[in-house]
Amino acid sequence: MNEQTLNELKQALEQEKKILTEELKSFANPDKNVKGDWDARYQDMGNDWDANAQEVTEYATRVPLEHELETRLQEVNGAFEKITKNTYGLCEKCGAAIDIERLRANPSARTCIQHN
Ligand SMILES: [Zn+2]
Repeated sequence: MNEQTLNELKQALEQEKKILTEELKSFANPDKNVKGDWDARYQDMGNDWDANAQEVTEYATRVPLEHELETRLQEVNGAFEKITKNTYGLCEKCGAAIDIERLRANPSARTCIQHN
Protein backbone atom coordinates (compact mmCIF):
# COMPACT_ATOMS: atom_id res chain seq x y z
CA MET A 1 0.00 0.00 0.00
CA ASN A 2 1.47 3.36 -0.91
CA GLU A 3 1.63 6.27 1.48
CA GLN A 4 -1.05 8.26 -0.30
CA THR A 5 -3.58 5.43 -0.03
CA LEU A 6 -2.69 4.89 3.60
CA ASN A 7 -3.21 8.58 4.38
CA GLU A 8 -6.51 8.54 2.58
CA LEU A 9 -7.69 5.55 4.63
CA LYS A 10 -6.34 7.08 7.81
CA GLN A 11 -8.43 10.18 7.17
CA ALA A 12 -11.49 8.03 6.57
CA LEU A 13 -10.82 6.23 9.85
CA GLU A 14 -10.41 9.49 11.74
CA GLN A 15 -13.66 10.75 10.29
CA GLU A 16 -15.46 7.54 11.25
CA LYS A 17 -14.02 7.69 14.76
CA LYS A 18 -15.27 11.25 15.15
CA ILE A 19 -18.78 10.39 13.95
CA LEU A 20 -19.02 7.28 16.12
CA THR A 21 -17.76 9.14 19.19
CA GLU A 22 -20.21 12.00 18.66
CA GLU A 23 -23.08 9.55 18.21
CA LEU A 24 -22.16 7.67 21.36
CA LYS A 25 -21.74 10.87 23.36
CA SER A 26 -25.27 11.90 22.45
CA PHE A 27 -26.83 9.10 24.50
CA ALA A 28 -24.08 7.30 26.38
CA ASN A 29 -21.26 8.02 28.79
CA PRO A 30 -17.76 6.61 28.55
CA ASP A 31 -17.20 4.00 31.24
CA LYS A 32 -14.55 5.42 33.56
CA ASN A 33 -13.40 1.97 34.62
CA VAL A 34 -13.21 0.19 31.27
CA LYS A 35 -11.28 1.82 28.45
CA GLY A 36 -13.26 1.89 25.20
CA ASP A 37 -16.47 0.89 26.94
CA TRP A 38 -19.60 3.06 26.88
CA ASP A 39 -22.78 2.94 28.89
CA ALA A 40 -26.12 4.07 27.55
CA ARG A 41 -27.55 6.76 29.80
CA TYR A 42 -30.58 5.92 31.85
CA GLN A 43 -32.78 8.83 32.88
CA ASP A 44 -33.69 9.09 36.53
CA MET A 45 -37.11 7.72 37.23
CA GLY A 46 -39.80 9.93 38.65
CA ASN A 47 -43.33 9.12 39.74
CA ASP A 48 -44.80 9.48 36.27
CA TRP A 49 -45.49 5.90 35.22
CA ASP A 50 -46.10 6.74 31.57
CA ALA A 51 -42.80 8.60 31.34
CA ASN A 52 -41.07 5.75 33.12
CA ALA A 53 -42.50 3.17 30.75
CA GLN A 54 -41.36 5.25 27.81
CA GLU A 55 -37.89 5.61 29.26
CA VAL A 56 -37.63 1.85 29.69
CA THR A 57 -38.63 1.37 26.04
CA GLU A 58 -36.16 3.95 24.82
CA TYR A 59 -33.38 2.56 26.94
CA ALA A 60 -34.05 -0.88 25.47
CA THR A 61 -33.38 0.45 21.97
CA ARG A 62 -30.41 2.53 23.11
CA VAL A 63 -28.47 -0.40 24.53
CA PRO A 64 -28.11 -2.49 21.33
CA LEU A 65 -27.27 0.69 19.37
CA GLU A 66 -24.66 1.57 21.95
CA HIS A 67 -23.11 -1.90 21.60
CA GLU A 68 -23.07 -1.66 17.83
CA LEU A 69 -21.41 1.77 17.82
CA GLU A 70 -18.99 0.67 20.51
CA THR A 71 -17.95 -2.39 18.48
CA ARG A 72 -17.41 -0.26 15.38
CA LEU A 73 -15.37 2.23 17.38
CA GLN A 74 -13.22 -0.60 18.73
CA GLU A 75 -12.63 -1.82 15.18
CA VAL A 76 -11.58 1.67 14.14
CA ASN A 77 -9.22 1.90 17.10
CA GLY A 78 -7.89 -1.55 16.21
CA ALA A 79 -7.15 -0.28 12.71
CA PHE A 80 -5.18 2.68 14.13
CA GLU A 81 -3.22 0.25 16.28
CA LYS A 82 -2.38 -1.82 13.20
CA ILE A 83 -1.21 1.28 11.37
CA THR A 84 1.35 1.91 14.11
CA LYS A 85 2.39 -1.77 13.99
CA ASN A 86 2.63 -1.74 10.21
CA THR A 87 0.11 -4.56 9.91
CA TYR A 88 -2.73 -2.42 8.63
CA GLY A 89 -4.49 -3.71 5.52
CA LEU A 90 -3.46 -7.32 6.14
CA CYS A 91 -5.99 -10.10 6.66
CA GLU A 92 -6.06 -11.26 10.28
CA LYS A 93 -6.65 -14.84 9.17
CA CYS A 94 -4.17 -15.37 6.35
CA GLY A 95 -1.98 -12.26 6.33
CA ALA A 96 -2.76 -11.45 2.70
CA ALA A 97 -3.15 -7.81 1.69
CA ILE A 98 -6.79 -6.77 1.81
CA ASP A 99 -8.11 -5.38 -1.45
CA ILE A 100 -7.85 -1.57 -1.51
CA GLU A 101 -11.43 -1.18 -2.70
CA ARG A 102 -12.57 -3.27 0.23
CA LEU A 103 -10.64 -1.02 2.59
CA ARG A 104 -12.05 2.07 0.94
CA ALA A 105 -15.56 0.73 1.56
CA ASN A 106 -14.67 -0.23 5.12
CA PRO A 107 -11.33 1.16 6.33
CA SER A 108 -11.49 -0.96 9.47
CA ALA A 109 -11.94 -4.26 7.58
CA ARG A 110 -9.97 -6.95 9.41
CA THR A 111 -10.02 -9.76 6.87
CA CYS A 112 -9.71 -10.38 3.14
CA ILE A 113 -12.75 -11.31 1.06
CA GLN A 114 -12.08 -15.07 1.46
CA HIS A 115 -12.10 -14.78 5.22
CA ASN A 116 -15.02 -12.43 5.53
ZN1 LIG B 1 -7.57 -13.92 4.46
